[in-house]
Amino acid sequence: MNLDFFFTPKSVAIIGASNRKGSMGYVFMNNITQAGYEGEIYPINHKEDEVFGLKAYKNVKDISGDVDLAVILIPAKSVPGAMTDCGEKGLKGAVVITGGFAEVGDEGAQLQKELQDISERYGIRTLGPNCFGLYNCNIGLNVSLALGSPERGGRISLITQSGAYGMAIYTFALDHSMKFAKIIAPGNKSDLQDYELVGALGEDPESNVICILAETISKGREFFEVAKEMTPKKPVIVVKTGRTEGSRRAALSHTASLAGNLEAYRAAFAQSGIIEVRSGLDMIELAKALDFQPLPKGKRVGIVTNSGGTGVELTDLLEECGLTVPELPEETQSSLKSVLPAYASPKNPIDVTTLWSQFTELYSQSIAALFECPEIDIIMPILLQRSAMMKEVVESVRDVVIHYQQELKIEKPVYVCWVSTREHLNNMEILQSAGIPCYEWPERTARIAGYVSGYADYLEQIDNGKEIALPPSDELDKEKVASILSNVSKESRNYVLEPEVKQILSLYGIRVTKERVCSSTDEAISAANEIGYPVVLKVVSPEVIHKSDFGGVEIGIKDDSEIIEAYTRILKNVKSNTPDAKINGVSVQEMARGKEVMIGSVKDQDFGSLMAFGMGGIYVEVLKDVSYRLAPVTGYEAGQMIEEIRNYPLLKGHRGEKGVNLEELRDMIARVSLLLVDFPEITEMDLNPVFVNEDEAIIADGRIFIN
Ligand code: ADP
Ligand code: MG
Repeated sequence: MNLDFFFTPKSVAIIGASNRKGSMGYVFMNNITQAGYEGEIYPINHKEDEVFGLKAYKNVKDISGDVDLAVILIPAKSVPGAMTDCGEKGLKGAVVITGGFAEVGDEGAQLQKELQDISERYGIRTLGPNCFGLYNCNIGLNVSLALGSPERGGRISLITQSGAYGMAIYTFALDHSMKFAKIIAPGNKSDLQDYELVGALGEDPESNVICILAETISKGREFFEVAKEMTPKKPVIVVKTGRTEGSRRAALSHTASLAGNLEAYRAAFAQSGIIEVRSGLDMIELAKALDFQPLPKGKRVGIVTNSGGTGVELTDLLEECGLTVPELPEETQSSLKSVLPAYASPKNPIDVTTLWSQFTELYSQSIAALFECPEIDIIMPILLQRSAMMKEVVESVRDVVIHYQQELKIEKPVYVCWVSTREHLNNMEILQSAGIPCYEWPERTARIAGYVSGYADYLEQIDNGKEIALPPSDELDKEKVASILSNVSKESRNYVLEPEVKQILSLYGIRVTKERVCSSTDEAISAANEIGYPVVLKVVSPEVIHKSDFGGVEIGIKDDSEIIEAYTRILKNVKSNTPDAKINGVSVQEMARGKEVMIGSVKDQDFGSLMAFGMGGIYVEVLKDVSYRLAPVTGYEAGQMIEEIRNYPLLKGHRGEKGVNLEELRDMIARVSLLLVDFPEITEMDLNPVFVNEDEAIIADGRIFIN
């Protein structure tokens, strides 16, 4: 997607430009003329002949040269007219700053629709409406409400749904020596969607780190696909706000009552390698780490500190974030011993003690030793109080890092943990302006390192497991599945019965219980003898969705006489609970054994089929021990789903107990995901329970809803 006419327009028309101080038209003229933009600027104003010393035009159509981009500031009701003029003039892009569209209700939504029609008719791509505007810092293009002309040479780009918050984050970043490439506030996203903006930044050689601050992401599935292509090349960081108490659907299936829209977002982020962070501050601090420093090759952190206590806290927090602080190898320790005072610890954290007079050497030599140590992947100097206050110490840290990273080309990231008073922030600046990021307090340092390491992990595994798990396509009988589903629809049902579900699954190469639907006790007895005792009996009825709630399931039936009793009991229970239920028969099935897990799915409005995996049985909703991914999942991703649940150790085997066949379970999840992709009419699915034991994974119950 090429959006150069937005980012590097040769000429810009400001529709609604003004000389009147305090007006929007003034702010925009001031911004664009101050930031050093070198293209043509055309003010459009009905009354004035000149705005900001530039010739003003009554209409874009009066301009004789070509115009790439229009920035529209005039009242909402006049915007469609101005857009039409832009269309006739042949402009490629428009940034509609004006508010009063879909965000204010039906009338505004109508106006927005009109705007979108004009965009489509003339092929003008539109950013907004109701947006904060856009910056290309590297060419001094500021067509936004934000003041200022940032420094050039930036590589971080930001898409921010909240214009004001995005700009606040951006100014915070400026205080930390960070530089930006592009900043875009997409507003109501009537035309340009998130995935297009991200895609454009993905192709932009000036954007190395992409930050997104979003309440909602438009066209979720497309966004997911674009992001997946991009993250192996450059990191994408997202903070998704509006996370709490998402709407939970009125639910027929367990999965639907568990999985909301937020879970779908989370799955999309995890699967596409997007780094999801908790807050705007995390986002910007992580962008700093990724922009300033190389990625780590592992998780082993070496710490140098002048405070033992801080070193211990940082160690704890790092381990909580999935990193390690290993004891240094003998060789490194002995080289450190020759430098450090006799009572100092060379183990890791390296404690330089309180020997202030020698901090300069102690820090720089310890850092040098960590650069040279092959068993360390990340270096974290703690600069606390006195070491942070002493400018010469800070400079020596900077110099040794630059020496190793730039001259000796050792690609090991350094994150400084900074603990000092405001008075010494200028010392922090010495490091940050040299590209060495500082984080205040161990907690922030550890958190950011944790995020970085999560991204490095994602990159490591990217090629794993792609080949696994899907059954050979000649094993799949999709036509048969389609005909079962169309029969269900023909009977005006949206509920697919357990025997039908199992038939569908087995057509996808998925192991289900051996079973037969019977319509008499005699038939049931012969089925049971064929399958082999013990067996399970279950009612089959379109009116009975939760079978055991109605006394419709009997397990552990051991012989012919028990069959007769259970059969009779089931029919009696169902008839007394739901007298009108149509009973198709009683299913006699193999009694599966093992641990009960569940595989489910719901259809998310933005991202498509969202799969869930968790421990099964009746407690799934209470325990909420569930992991999520968007379908389709690779075998590797299915494996991650299994490993992510808290009860994973129970599946893996505990105290000498043999673990379950995880490979079969993984394959099963991947195959189910393929079914979901092939049959998008499946809106909800619960396979619960699925039994897993040392040998195999078997589906014992399944329901599907279709639309
Ligand atoms: P429901 O419609 O109530 O979910 P299920 O078919 O899941 O009915 O049966 C209820 C419970 O009975 C299951 O959670 C499981 O513990 C047990 N069960 C069902 N089918 C089998 C089977 N084939 N083998 C072993 N246990 C089973
Ligand atoms: Mg069940």
